[in-house]
Amino acid sequence: MNNSAPEIGSPARTNAILTRYRLVAKKSLGQNFLSDLNILRNIVNAAEVTEDDNVIEIGPGIGALTEQIAKRARKVVAFEIDENLLPVLDETLADYDNVKIINQDILKANLAEVIHEEFEPGHPVKLVANLPYYITTPILMGVLQSGVAFDEIVVMMQKEVADRLVAEPGTKAYGSLSVVMQYKAHVAVAFEVPRTAFIPQPNVDSAIIRLTPREPLPVKPYEEEALFKFVKGCFIHRRKTLWNNLQGLFGKQPEVRERLESVLDTVGVSRQLRPERLTLINFIELTNAFHNEGLM
Ligand code: SAM
Repeated sequence: MNNSAPEIGSPARTNAILTRYRLVAKKSLGQNFLSDLNILRNIVNAAEVTEDDNVIEIGPGIGALTEQIAKRARKVVAFEIDENLLPVLDETLADYDNVKIINQDILKANLAEVIHEEFEPGHPVKLVANLPYYITTPILMGVLQSGVAFDEIVVMMQKEVADRLVAEPGTKAYGSLSVVMQYKAHVAVAFEVPRTAFIPQPNVDSAIIRLTPREPLPVKPYEEEALFKFVKGCFIHRRKTLWNNLQGLFGKQPEVRERLESVLDTVGVSRQLRPERLTLINFIELTNAFHNEGLM
């Protein structure tokens, strides 16, 4: 390994690696390589990675972000689905003995098991990644439902999706993804990244999202899955009123409508509201009330 080589995430080195391995970025796997050392370092800064931390990465690509994490962390375990990138990573990360690459689809990985096998206990576990954008939502849902209590999650995604994750009630971007994510974690945008920072350039801008454990909610749903299903159901027709959506979900029979009305009265939510006006607490209270009413 040439120790004097520029870091992987510099444009010159990225281009050299792509040329040397005759790599053509696979659109189908969301391969856009981040090629800006300041941004790469700022992602690691946003996660406050220290030498005490164990880090999971998703989609190391040619190793640009992996290298910046490896310089700071105790150990990095990175999941890469594309086996053509394995020999590349072998070479680009040869100087780092605290990196392990797992050639697996992250959606099929058992994160809890890998963490148990690969990381010494007693150290913070963080997730830092430039996500493959075509599966951002399933990855985040999988991570949040993996049972792993990550101390910090810092991930890059398409800006439009990031906007939806942090959206407040009453805004255009607010929808089921906002409610479900905000139920699971405290969500904030760390900073935005222009499309020009990638090779090849994607057609969208990006943003870094930081997910941290959220403060406990004043009410809990009787069942998480029921809450998620209900929230998704309420946004099926987001331009219609809540009342219309509820009748679509539960039925229009007079006796059902009567019970729906009684639940809305109890919870104190107006029939005429659009679903985008409801807060997370409204959704939880409605889920519990419909359950108590025997409607779900
Ligand atoms: N981390 C690199 C960077 O910042 O330049 C590459 C990020 S690129 C946006 C996404 C990476 O995720 C690619 O390397 C791609 O091959 C990988 N990938 C795509 N689908 C995946 C999956 N299901 N499981 C694991 N890795 C995946």
